[in-house]
Amino acid sequence: MSGSIQLGHIKGIPIEINISWLLIFFLFSISLAQGYLPIRAEGLSSQTYWIAGIITTLLVFASVLTHEFGHSLVAINEGIPIKKITLFIFGGVAQMEAEPKDPSSEFKITAAGPLTSLLIAVATGALYYLILPAGQIIGESIFFVARVNLIMAVFNLVPAFPLDGGRLFRSIIWFFNKNMLKATRIAVFVGSALSFIAIALGFMIIFFQEDFWGIWLIFVGWMIYHAGQTSYSQLVFKETFSGMKVSEVMSTDLHTISPDATLDELVDYFLRYKYGAFPVVYGSTTHGLVTLQSMKEVPREEWPNTTVAHILTPLKETMVLEPTDDAADVMMKMASQNTGRALVMEKNGELVGLLSRTDMMRFIQMHMVLGEY
Ligand SMILES: [Zn+2]
Repeated sequence: MSGSIQLGHIKGIPIEINISWLLIFFLFSISLAQGYLPIRAEGLSSQTYWIAGIITTLLVFASVLTHEFGHSLVAINEGIPIKKITLFIFGGVAQMEAEPKDPSSEFKITAAGPLTSLLIAVATGALYYLILPAGQIIGESIFFVARVNLIMAVFNLVPAFPLDGGRLFRSIIWFFNKNMLKATRIAVFVGSALSFIAIALGFMIIFFQEDFWGIWLIFVGWMIYHAGQTSYSQLVFKETFSGMKVSEVMSTDLHTISPDATLDELVDYFLRYKYGAFPVVYGSTTHGLVTLQSMKEVPREEWPNTTVAHILTPLKETMVLEPTDDAADVMMKMASQNTGRALVMEKNGELVGLLSRTDMMRFIQMHMVLGEY
């Protein structure tokens, strides 16, 4: 995720916070120091409330981190290394290096998170009810931590993929139907349905109850919907291209254009072949890629006097792949860099193909039509 600050390592796992967490930090501290704590524990100085508010927020932060560690330690135990843990606006993500290989492994890794939160809630709740007196600031801060952990455990158990509850739900379907992709599709469908219900409820709260907090439900619903769709399509990419090489997906129907060609000649190419870009080649040297977009930026009256060499994207700014590169990795890389096309070249510089995201999308659609999923 962009905009993250690295905090350090715990047990060899890098810990990052997304800058969106700073907003939550601020909101939590202010509402604790100005609202919650003064109401629950009366008669203290505003300085005391602020210190307690900040410490309580740090404890909430530690709780989210512990939840993610719950997932991470079980994952490592199941043989899946953790790339990093990122804390962001709604909680955290422990990024695994690979997807769990079987449903029981996924079930264990996923269940560990909410279970950790529940344990913290029980421990801090017991501390409050049995030891710390109510109405005093330490007890009330601890009680707040207990409540947040309970909410975290319950909220994460909502079966909306990719929340923990949705993952548990997927692992159960996966266990029965033995098909991870189908199980994911069902879990994402249920998650989307729940997201829409949350969004509808949010709007109803705003319109009928005139309570602006409905916006949170809309926001959470939208986030979950979006995350579900993204993780499903990533999975489809990975599954479709797993074990495939770039050479199996690239287009080898190459139409190259010379750098001396004018834009008038180039426009004929676009009309004739209907591609969005052409490799620019002179002799046996590849100079780069020329796109429809870069041609459109030149005023039409200058087309007869402008050559392709003037508007091409040079090779060093173009994504260049080798035919033996892993297709799934390349797809991820193109998506994350927002690159539409890449040239495929042998080590000796010979141009052998062109790979576009559109080609890859078409490939996925074809697989779907052929009924593999
Ligand atoms: Zn979790």
